[in-house]
Amino acid sequence: MTETIGNGLFPPPSMPWVERRDSPIKYGVPVSLGAEAAPACTTSRLDPREHIVIIGGGFGGLTAALALRHAPVRVTLIDRRNYHLFQPLLYQVATAGLSPADIASPIRAILRCQRNTTVLLGKVTGIDVAGKAVLTDKRRVVYDQLVIATGARHAYFSHEEWEQFAPGLKKIDDATDIRRRILLAFEWAENSTDEREQQRLLSFVIVGGGPTGVEMAGAIAELARKALSTDFRNIDPRSARIVLVESGSRVLASFPETLSAVAKRALERLGVEVRLGTRVSCCDPEGVIVSNERIEADTIIWAAGVVASPAAKWLDAEKDGAGRVVVGRDLTLEGHPEIFVIGDTALAKATNGKPLPGIAPVAKQQGAYVARVIAARVRGRPALAPFRYRHLGTMATIGRKSAVVDLGKFRLSGFLAWLLWGFVHVYFLVGFRNRLAVMMGWLWAYITFERGARLITGHET
Ligand SMILES: Cc1cc2nc3c(=O)[nH]c(=O)nc-3n(C[C@H](O)[C@H](O)[C@H](O)COP(=O)(O)OP(=O)(O)OC[C@H]3O[C@@H](n4cnc5c(N)ncnc54)[C@H](O)[C@@H]3O)c2cc1C
Repeated sequence: MTETIGNGLFPPPSMPWVERRDSPIKYGVPVSLGAEAAPACTTSRLDPREHIVIIGGGFGGLTAALALRHAPVRVTLIDRRNYHLFQPLLYQVATAGLSPADIASPIRAILRCQRNTTVLLGKVTGIDVAGKAVLTDKRRVVYDQLVIATGARHAYFSHEEWEQFAPGLKKIDDATDIRRRILLAFEWAENSTDEREQQRLLSFVIVGGGPTGVEMAGAIAELARKALSTDFRNIDPRSARIVLVESGSRVLASFPETLSAVAKRALERLGVEVRLGTRVSCCDPEGVIVSNERIEADTIIWAAGVVASPAAKWLDAEKDGAGRVVVGRDLTLEGHPEIFVIGDTALAKATNGKPLPGIAPVAKQQGAYVARVIAARVRGRPALAPFRYRHLGTMATIGRKSAVVDLGKFRLSGFLAWLLWGFVHVYFLVGFRNRLAVMMGWLWAYITFERGARLITGHET
């Protein structure tokens, strides 16, 4: 029983549980499909294993999928992108230190050897909770248990119109767009004969003093002061002005105060102006207005806030101010033990009642936990204890040889912290090729101050 989609046969032999769109049977019982627009992908009469659908191949979703490799279930992982992205190093793509392929791996290749798992490329547009089905732009996928790990995107605090002037950093495309803007600013400054315009072009404002903002500011400062310093004839890239704007009283607010102070000093040594207690009230093509002062700048980068993916809307579920779905201690949606929400999309609480932060270790530990819960359920084993997050520490880097590391009782800053930061990031990258590429890239940059990925793409004069 096959149906042709595009040029391929549907379902392919590896997906025997996929039934025809017009099949009158799901879960072995007749159903009415009504005016459904998309083809159906349903539980099979041939394969009795439970069908686990995971939305999102980021840190949470991919960890869950990998942890289900030996479970007696069929897994379908759906992502709108064909790659898993290591977001903590995105800022290095945006500042020409690494190439996109160094920090991304095809999801299909990562799960190639996992026989119980199918990867589908598609954008999820909704969830039919009553019908237990995920709706994508391509088809309808029926599940027995569902894991939602669709992450978050940047938020502009009701000023979405600022996005065109102040892009955020979340995807590869964002990173290459920011890289283009930064490199073009130097090129246009070299072309200009107007000093004021040159100064505007060589001014960079980063909004938000969290880890991403601090890392971006440090990397742009090093790009200007080192990598580009001798490449131009009409301008001096070292004169570039880099301003980091933070509305709170310190950078890296989630770190201990001593490390925040260390990070601020390290940024200032690199020539970054750190403006604390300063809120942006306007972004436009000419620059920003902060605390009634206009800073003229050609490049503005937004690193000030995130909002969860629209999963709460899909589920019609309770959410917090950042759009995160409220979940119980077992990470399921209230009244729906078959639906798990994890990672940046979920509002889960630590044992002390505080919301868990939107960081990769939370998403990964939650992904591993829901896989254990699912495996225990299908094997008929007793329910697991509630999810408990083990905080291993946080770190941020400032430039090419300084970082701050908070491991709870143990704190570190400077070069040793930077080495630890580098080791941890390489260790957690997916794929040997990427680890090698990143290590070689860093070694080369460390010795030569060069930035190997200085390509202006997506623009032609
Ligand atoms: C620039 C940056 C730097 C960061 N640095 C750090 C750091 O140093 N340390 C740290 O711990 N954390 C860091 N984080 C945070 C960390 O990356 C996130 O907490 C983590 O990625 C959350 O994992 P997740 O699985 O919830 O979501 P993600 O990893 O974002 O994955 C979500 C996945 O869902 C897919 N998806 C989304 N919507 C849909 C849809 N409608 N249909 C289909 N697929 C969809 C996406 O394509 C993506 O693959 C950083 C984040 C950013 C943006």
